[in-house]
Amino acid sequence: MAIKKVSRYKIIKSVFDFFLSFDHEASNHKIIKDVNDFCYKMLNVKYTGLYIDDEGRNEVISLKQDITRMEFNSELTDKIKRDNRIYGGEISKDFTLIPQFEAENRLKYLLVIPLTNKNKHFGFLFFYGTDPQTFNDFSVKVLKLLTKVLSLTIGEKKLYREMEQRVAELITLQNVSNFVNATLDFEKLLDVSLDALVGLIGLRTCSIVLFTDKLFDDIYTRKQNTLIASLDMSKEIVLDLSSGIYKELSRKKKVIAGKVSFDDDLSKIIPLDNIEEGKEIEYIIVPVTRGKELIGSINIFSMDKGHLPILQHSFLESFANQFSVALQNALLYKKQEEMANRDGLTGLYNHAYFQNRLHLLLKQENKHPLTLIIMDIDNFKQVNDRFGHLVGDKVLKELAHLLKHNLREGDLIARYGGEEFAIILPETELKQGEFIAKRLRKLISDNEIVLDNNRSLYITVSIGVAQYNKKWSQEEFIDKADQALYKAKEAGKNRVTLA
Ligand code: GH3
Ligand code: MG
Ligand code: MG
Repeated sequence: MAIKKVSRYKIIKSVFDFFLSFDHEASNHKIIKDVNDFCYKMLNVKYTGLYIDDEGRNEVISLKQDITRMEFNSELTDKIKRDNRIYGGEISKDFTLIPQFEAENRLKYLLVIPLTNKNKHFGFLFFYGTDPQTFNDFSVKVLKLLTKVLSLTIGEKKLYREMEQRVAELITLQNVSNFVNATLDFEKLLDVSLDALVGLIGLRTCSIVLFTDKLFDDIYTRKQNTLIASLDMSKEIVLDLSSGIYKELSRKKKVIAGKVSFDDDLSKIIPLDNIEEGKEIEYIIVPVTRGKELIGSINIFSMDKGHLPILQHSFLESFANQFSVALQNALLYKKQEEMANRDGLTGLYNHAYFQNRLHLLLKQENKHPLTLIIMDIDNFKQVNDRFGHLVGDKVLKELAHLLKHNLREGDLIARYGGEEFAIILPETELKQGEFIAKRLRKLISDNEIVLDNNRSLYITVSIGVAQYNKKWSQEEFIDKADQALYKAKEAGKNRVTLA
């Protein structure tokens, strides 16, 4: 093949022209296309390509399809990164790179020039020629100059992207902290926090919050709402503080990240501040702490391999701290709200809450038919007189416990008065209500209340049952059940009477 005869002067002039007309805002792809055209026309370089190594995200831009990721395998790119010098070599099946200045045989077909920004390697340009004379002293000088300019252009874009990411993090933090300090709504708080994180990281990622608290018997999990449909692939970490990731997390209380592995292999967990640029990360777990106690975590997962952006360590910690404080406020509020609705002795709902809920339920037609049970302990005064008030209290607690464990979740149990209890049964007819009341009556009368080693007692209850009739007011409805209860007492106690 004939070598193109272009004068050096013309080439140098065209290099300047090229740099002057360079569109620095263009995409990397467009830039490489322009460089490719220029190198082909002026230097007889057949193809030009770009390999970017950006925090684990490798990008190859090549106009020649053969020169792909295949050839730039990780062994090779690692070597280029490590040595950070110009290489030249031949493209063949057993492709090896010969250091340019060590090679006796000059450069022949391929030239690799690393891209650096502030002495940091972030990829390289590669030039491919079909002629052994393509890469001579002069053309290598021009290509080095070209690479320097591209280092700045592409490197600046990278810096700009990083800056944008930091700004987005700050804005997220501010938005979350504004919201977080303004809300005491526990569920909303979780949703907003998760949305903010996922918004920042992108839709590839799902995130899960798990935490324990005295308030919850078990673990409370919340996933990012909008993603649930597409989450069938994602795995959920089980909160087990005695092993695996959570053991590590509760010990270190530091952000951890690594590859998804559920086989308890702790070597695969990498604390985030030790993660080097370019390492593949599939999950990030941020501990949520209260003082020294681990109360949960924010879990961020990548749906595809190794493409989680490395969020700033400090950002994640600030986020988790904000979240933790807000969480505690919301939990405290929730607890107080709960307490205000509850009876202190039995933990059942109190009279006021019962009235409020009944009011709401009577308005909700889909809860009808609705049945009310009112129950009163028989001869309770005698229990107090014989055994004392403390035993009386114990009896009330035990009865509450029995009721809680023998009714449906949707039923509402309240301590209506001293030794009177009310149970609202939504979507229940009188017949079913009677059946439930009879079952409870038997359960209570069969239940032995053990006081100490040699003393125990039994109690009985009288029960009135009424089904709501739309013609009645709330007071009338309660009164019907009360009257039925009164009749049960009149008829000899320890029985169920219908209104
Ligand atoms: P009856 O079968 O007619 O219902 O008789 P009774 O003795 O249960 O009814 P009465 O209304 O005469 O007595 C209710 C008793 O319940 C009086 C009160 O001391 C007791 N009591 C109410 N609240 C509590 C409480 O919180 N703790 C204890 N220990 N006793 C209570
Ligand atoms: Mg009584
Ligand atoms: Mg009473």
